Amino acid sequence: MKIGIPIEIKNNENRVGMTPSGVFELTKRNHEVFVQKNAGFGSGFFDKDYVDAGATILDTIEEVYNIAEMIVKVKEPIEKEYSLIKPNQVVFTYFHFASSEPLTHAMIASKAVCIAYETVEDANGALPLLIPMSEVAGRMSIQQGAKYLEKPIKGRGVLLGGVPGVAPGKVLVLGAGVVGIQAAKMAASLGANVTVLDINLPQLRHVCNIMPPNVVTEFSSEYNIRKHIKDADLIIGGVLIKGAKAPKLITRDMLKEMRPGTVIVDVAVDQGGCFETTKATTHEDPTFIIDDVVHYCVANMPGAVPYTSTVALTNVTLPYVIKLANEGWEKACSESAPLAKGLNIVKGNIVYKEIAEAFDLEY
Ligand code: NAD
Repeated sequence: MKIGIPIEIKNNENRVGMTPSGVFELTKRNHEVFVQKNAGFGSGFFDKDYVDAGATILDTIEEVYNIAEMIVKVKEPIEKEYSLIKPNQVVFTYFHFASSEPLTHAMIASKAVCIAYETVEDANGALPLLIPMSEVAGRMSIQQGAKYLEKPIKGRGVLLGGVPGVAPGKVLVLGAGVVGIQAAKMAASLGANVTVLDINLPQLRHVCNIMPPNVVTEFSSEYNIRKHIKDADLIIGGVLIKGAKAPKLITRDMLKEMRPGTVIVDVAVDQGGCFETTKATTHEDPTFIIDDVVHYCVANMPGAVPYTSTVALTNVTLPYVIKLANEGWEKACSESAPLAKGLNIVKGNIVYKEIAEAFDLEY
């Protein structure tokens, strides 16, 4: 199969769809891989690395989309890319359709086969292609939150770990999934007092069993959220309802109950956000302030650490890319239940219920 790896053109996105090592695994199976010039540069991979792995380098994004039967990338196509996608072309990437109606309509119109990383689901209900990016974003959320708590960038002026004689900061984590666990682990290792809320009790039991004593768990309810936001220094939003918009757990009126300079990091921004006041921001201009509460809502957090993220992503996508390339999407998806779950839009039809429901479209 002819596989295309275009450069990512979304603001400050330095990841790339595949490492040279992944390309090598494809070319040794006699697939042809076409990588756009400089596509790996932001992640620390050079054209020569890809050529050595058997790829052909193409100068323009148009050439890559024209020749490829399957595009493997990282972020959802942005408007400039809509017209490059061809009927029947397989596009394997993160789409997050539920948070973008224009993207949904554009991909219906393209008649392409859109397989979304974020809905590939294994037999246990886990999302294997979301996990590594959630791990990165969860760990980064504390790194970023700790930074924005500093006074010169309008935070409360609190050192999360405290110092001898001064109590550590308080971190509230909404969601005890992959993001939540990694965030709690990082915050706890800095010495902060951490509370993790979730509606899934088995998951809270798991967190309770693996975390140090400075992490406590509570059931997620409006009552408990209102109680904890009053004295939290840093709040992390890491909730997910698969394939659907995130629930708004912190409403506009609740901001007034927080202390000035509280930092809220909405990692769930790519599913619409779990704070009512969330709007997506970029690494260039990551924060905004409403009612003295600092909001950090970067939709592609792992893009800031592209080397780590690209390697982690290829680690998990490669087995699926190999299967799709070897067998074609129809056979691969009929044989692999996880891949079949990744099918979101196929040749003009929405085939994933929650996406149709999000925009009241035909399923
Ligand atoms: P996950 O499925 O592992 O965890 C989500 C958790 O949210 C689950 O434990 C679930 O029970 C819980 N939850 C659902 N409703 C809740 C509620 N009302 N209150 C409390 N908890 C609730 O998901 P994840 O991998 O941790 O991802 C979380 C979010 O982060 C997703 O939206 C994902 O797309 C996003 N994400 C964003 C970035 C970024 O760069 N901004 C990067 C990676 C992931």
